[in-house]
Amino acid sequence: MVAKVIDETCVGCGLCVDACPEVFVMEGDKAIVKGDAIPAEAKENAEKAKSDCPVEAITIEG
Ligand code: SF4
Repeated sequence: MVAKVIDETCVGCGLCVDACPEVFVMEGDKAIVKGDAIPAEAKENAEKAKSDCPVEAITIEG
């Protein structure tokens, strides 16, 4: 599974980083995804980050 943040959509609220710091990190005023595949132990948190995002800027595929 791979997470992506749609840069133009992200409003920089930081909720995804709170929910899943294993995958998301703030870079300036946007969130970005660390690394490549989502670690197995972080999948649940990554799904929470996706559902927490107020502007649906997160996609998870694979
Ligand atoms: S939760 Fe959504 S809007 Fe907020 S920082 Fe993360 S990707 Fe951006």
